[in-house]
Amino acid sequence: MIPFSPPRIDERTIAEVTAALRSGWITTGPRTKDFEKRLAAYCDVGTVIALNSWTNAAELVLRWFGIGPGDEVIVPAYTYCATANIVMHVGAKPVMVDVLDDFTIDPAAVRRAITPHTKCIIPVDIGGLPANVPEIMRIAEEARLVFAPTPTSNAQLQLGRPLVLSDAAHSFGATINGRKVGAQADITGFSFHAVKNLTTAEGGALALNMPAPFDNAALYKHFNTMSLHGQNKDALAKTQAGAWRYDVEFAGWKCNMTDLQAAIGIVELERYDTETQPRRKAICDRYSAAFAGDERFLVPDFEQDGRVGSYHLFMLRVARATEDQRDAIIAAIAKSEVSVNVHFIPMPMLTVYKNLGYRIADYPNTYKQYSREISLPVYFDLSDAQVDQVVAAVKEAVGENIQ
Ligand SMILES: *Cc1c(COP(=O)(O)O)cnc(C)c1O
Repeated sequence: MIPFSPPRIDERTIAEVTAALRSGWITTGPRTKDFEKRLAAYCDVGTVIALNSWTNAAELVLRWFGIGPGDEVIVPAYTYCATANIVMHVGAKPVMVDVLDDFTIDPAAVRRAITPHTKCIIPVDIGGLPANVPEIMRIAEEARLVFAPTPTSNAQLQLGRPLVLSDAAHSFGATINGRKVGAQADITGFSFHAVKNLTTAEGGALALNMPAPFDNAALYKHFNTMSLHGQNKDALAKTQAGAWRYDVEFAGWKCNMTDLQAAIGIVELERYDTETQPRRKAICDRYSAAFAGDERFLVPDFEQDGRVGSYHLFMLRVARATEDQRDAIIAAIAKSEVSVNVHFIPMPMLTVYKNLGYRIADYPNTYKQYSREISLPVYFDLSDAQVDQVVAAVKEAVGENIQ
């Protein structure tokens, strides 16, 4: 059986995690701090904080910005539920908009959705292709004219426009106009979940890129405190002899990264550009070559107007398939012992959002792309022979189901 996306765990990963275990320091400590510095250097941004997931990291951002009941956050209808669930957690309203043919949020739809209550826009880099974040930043700037900050939020008063929080869960290492993702939005969130390009088993990080007069180093400290119950001294700081006294400044959350996770991440990052990404690109290129000349298929874009993707997913589309035909094709592929997936079931089709009144009919391009989409396996240890096996299984299944 060809799995969909197993993590790459080898002796190097095991040795580094073992070293962390033997060091006696297993929670947030020197390895996490080292990982953060390496992430910042890699993305060429000043400040990065590592936390326990994209979800909790991004939710801290919404809470820090003072988003709550009565506020709106613009998200694409086509994304994983985490993007909108965090908006629900803070009591605000996810305002869903349609996507373009490359799966990323439609800037024109974002512009139409802006109201005085729009506090944040969350573009998503689906499959690893960056959304048009520079254009979303321009839209957020224009929204300054109608922005109605909550008087209780200093951050909103100071920024004076909606915050742009990039969902870069798929796009670590991708670039926009030659610069790594992380440098474009106000704040960019990465996920290091087990299936992502770079993993720490579970984990996430925020690249902090707030404009002046915000102080990103001070913001780092604040998010660090938010992630540890609002406690003003972390476990490492308390290990100094006599340094036992601490205070809790507010009722914070608990979502720090551990040194065991960081140990995995450090190994992953060291070989990301030299091993992981070249292999992922080679796999995607091989799929593209096999499907591009066949008119039954649409291959995904890995480059679009200065945006270069991270080869996270190979989002193949069967040009003329209905949703039912696509489902039948996946069932036939499974018979050939190949695991594929669909990224993603649009949020308006999920019970939680259907019950809140969202309707997929309002997002025609989201439905059109979803209904014919099949994601193929992409992972470091997938061999060329296995790629060819996947291609054969897909072509056979499509031949059986589409005349
Ligand atoms: C994986 C994913 C997330 C959530 O990441 P976690 O680290 O698991 O919280 C958010 N957005 C998208 C698009 C994702 O695929």
